[in-house]
Amino acid sequence: MLGLMQDHPLLISSVLEHALCSHPQVEIASRLQDGTVHHCTYADIGQRAKQLANALTNLGVQPGERIGTLAWNGYRHMEMFYGVSGMGAVLHTINPRLFAEQIEFIANHAEDQYLFFDLSFAALIEQLAPRLTTVKAFVALAERSQMPPIVVPNLLCYEDLIGDEPETFAWPCLDERVAASLCYTSGTTGNPKGVLYSHRSTLLHSMATCTPDGFNLSSADTALLVVPMFHVNAWGMPYAAAMCGARLVLPGADLDGASLYDLMQRERVTLALGVPTVWMTLQQHVQNAGLMPTADLCLNRVVMGGAAAPRSLVETFETRFDARVLQAWGMTEMSPLGTVCNALPKHRDASLDERIDLQAKQGRVLFGVRIKIVDADGAELPRDGKASGHLRVKGPWIASQYYRGEGGDLLDEQGWLMTGDIATIDPDGYMQITDRVKDVIKSGGEWISSIDLENAACGHPAVAEAAVIGVPHPKWQERPLLVVVLKQGMLATRDELLGFLQSRVAKWWLPDAVAFVEALPYTATGKVQKMKLREQFRDYRL
Ligand code: AMP
Repeated sequence: MLGLMQDHPLLISSVLEHALCSHPQVEIASRLQDGTVHHCTYADIGQRAKQLANALTNLGVQPGERIGTLAWNGYRHMEMFYGVSGMGAVLHTINPRLFAEQIEFIANHAEDQYLFFDLSFAALIEQLAPRLTTVKAFVALAERSQMPPIVVPNLLCYEDLIGDEPETFAWPCLDERVAASLCYTSGTTGNPKGVLYSHRSTLLHSMATCTPDGFNLSSADTALLVVPMFHVNAWGMPYAAAMCGARLVLPGADLDGASLYDLMQRERVTLALGVPTVWMTLQQHVQNAGLMPTADLCLNRVVMGGAAAPRSLVETFETRFDARVLQAWGMTEMSPLGTVCNALPKHRDASLDERIDLQAKQGRVLFGVRIKIVDADGAELPRDGKASGHLRVKGPWIASQYYRGEGGDLLDEQGWLMTGDIATIDPDGYMQITDRVKDVIKSGGEWISSIDLENAACGHPAVAEAAVIGVPHPKWQERPLLVVVLKQGMLATRDELLGFLQSRVAKWWLPDAVAFVEALPYTATGKVQKMKLREQFRDYRL
């Protein structure tokens, strides 16, 4: 017997309509290229998203066709999140930090029909345009007076394109399973692979994000999205915020510590989301400039995800910013959210140290995501907080395959996504990532966690950033090499650092050597590029 409940598809347009009805006057603040902050409301975003949907319809855009963006976090990008997906096309956000060749591959592979770009990418567009074989026109996200002097066939102006269009649009009643957005993940080998999100997966994921055991997002929040809208839809926040009426702050291109601090202060940000490197930069700025975040800011939560948050960073935000750190874990293939680290009632009386120990974990799953760890033969391992194994995941906002079936198998025979991460799960359900499969250091048949070592090294007062890689060893197969960037004006020797680690990690984990470098190589999504580092130290002999 079927239930007798109304059947409404879960569509991105319904999120916008809800925002227009429930909190039309809530603001979206966007920092523009000239440094000024533009304010608009969900009502404005809604009206302009509808004008955009009309414009795309007039251009002949068909359901399912891909519309590319090369843009920072800003209100026009937000309009595209709703206008493009709402009218049935697929929003394809491209990471502008990738190499030009990768962008070319991605836009051609996705067969983007139109490419919308921020002015800071005008030169890149001019360079790429002749090689983008499917793009019918390039649309500058700008007013007529700001149009860039570039030579590109079919260059359009966004404000002209939408300006005269009607402010109403009848959103199509789509099948909730149709594609809404596309984001490529760039692995360390092979071509980038497309992850194609549906309306349904996007809405379920956003609802889970809002829950108290997720980011506890609500209309009381002003959320700063440092996490880019071109990487996994800014962790789904443009949808989640519209669902619950949170105010949004979109920082544009300036992501340095001073700019972020200023924006947080001016816009009274309560929740900020980004990768750990961003928060390291902010922390350094606060330290160097002698600022008082507790007096200047209203920050009460910081979400750190995308890479492991070092314990020392968590501690700084807890103590100097008086903000609760929520470590979150996920993947592009997971929309991205899988786990968030929140406390349980039994942690209520935990000391600061105990709380920070807990926050260094990646957290517990949200309803909708299932996780398990398995050994090399695929047998499930116990959830005892000790056994570590290959992490597998399942759920309605997790990819079943890559776009166009290219990029290899994502799932094992039982339909679990193979994350490539190694983790433990404790009896309370807290998952902790110990490494990426390809980064773990194999020493004498045992595994050494590069993340744990990095975490410990970051606790040294002179260390700004740390990465640990395995280097060949005649007896042990591999041994850890600690690569360190020191804080400006600080000094530390190899022996000091190893001495510091001695009481913090198992003796046989102690790195065999320390290398000091000016900077670590980072990927386009803010992770240390271990492969590049391994190449750099390929000839290193212990
Ligand atoms: P991406 O698809 O680029 O977002 O990368 C996903 C990968 O980033 C995961 O498989 C993890 O290896 C890593 N990752 C994401 N969040 C965390 C976290 N909180 N701690 C450790 N690693 C993380």
